Amino acid sequence: MNEQILHPDISVVLPVFNEEKNLAALAQRLKSVLEQTQVRYEVIFVNDGSTDNSLAILKSMAAADSSIGYISLSRNFGHQVAISAGLDVATGNAVVVMDADLQDPPELIPDLYAKMQEGFEVVYGRRVYRKGESFLKKLTAKFFYRLLSNITHVAIPIDTGDFRIMDARVVKVLKQMPERNKFLRGQVAWVGFRQTWVDFVRDERLDGKPGYTYRKMIRFAFDGITSFSDFPLKMASMLGFIVSGIAFLLMIYTLLARLVFKDYVEGWASIILSVLFLGGVQLICIGIAGEYLARVFNNVQGRPLYVVDEQEIKKEKQS
Ligand code: UDP
Ligand code: MG
Repeated sequence: MNEQILHPDISVVLPVFNEEKNLAALAQRLKSVLEQTQVRYEVIFVNDGSTDNSLAILKSMAAADSSIGYISLSRNFGHQVAISAGLDVATGNAVVVMDADLQDPPELIPDLYAKMQEGFEVVYGRRVYRKGESFLKKLTAKFFYRLLSNITHVAIPIDTGDFRIMDARVVKVLKQMPERNKFLRGQVAWVGFRQTWVDFVRDERLDGKPGYTYRKMIRFAFDGITSFSDFPLKMASMLGFIVSGIAFLLMIYTLLARLVFKDYVEGWASIILSVLFLGGVQLICIGIAGEYLARVFNNVQGRPLYVVDEQEIKKEKQS
């Protein structure tokens, strides 16, 4: 007889970077929530090159509890890659992704799971309020999410992080997206299916320092914009047309000044005309190169062309 593999109902994936002081409380709150929901579950911690005692703590937790597992990366690869590594080993029919610093409350998992049962493939937590984060962080985050939603083609939900539950089908598509600069919240939006949200208050980090420095945040913001928008590339051609338009008006003025008003300095007209003309032409050419680059980039990303939700295809019988 075939042995039937029992997938857990829920896998919880948590990226960990120097969270030694939070892991015990985190595991305890997670367990008590998950036990209450009476589902089969697994918890997967991804140690993203922590330099503190996190890995040792994860090892002892995994040894003591069969529902807890861990992977440890060889160095710090960053939050998004750590989550991807967790998704690669998660076997649940649904996968929850959440931070390991207790900013995403484990107590929301039953709500996310219940909402999913109403017929959604993705339920993300939307932060209605962020506790204890600096004014600058909130302001830059707010600005970034709005800018992003204005210049991208996929509807990336505003004010959400990576705290979400996803159906195994969505996770399967994510794994087929081999792009190296991961921007998971955008990729999940790109995958489609039925997506909705549950509001929550984002707590203060329990202990320790944020692993996201401003430097990492800026790089992350660039990844988001460049993976989901070719707007920056198209800016050159837009600028080119604007400069050329202005140049054209100035050319008329220059010619009038030279030929009609006779108000000019020797050589002025030809210099101005050639500078303006060449400037416009150059920007348009850069824009054209940008258009091709955008297409090359699109192909290099290697995303699937489409994702099928359901299908029924009848093949005619051949006689
Ligand atoms: N994290 C990670 N690798 C990193 C930075 C952060 O795995 O290089 C983890 C971190 O342990 C936490 C989550 O990603 O579980 C979110 O990080 P952080 O709290 O620093 O971000 P913030 O909440 O400030 O956005
Ligand atoms: Mg945090």
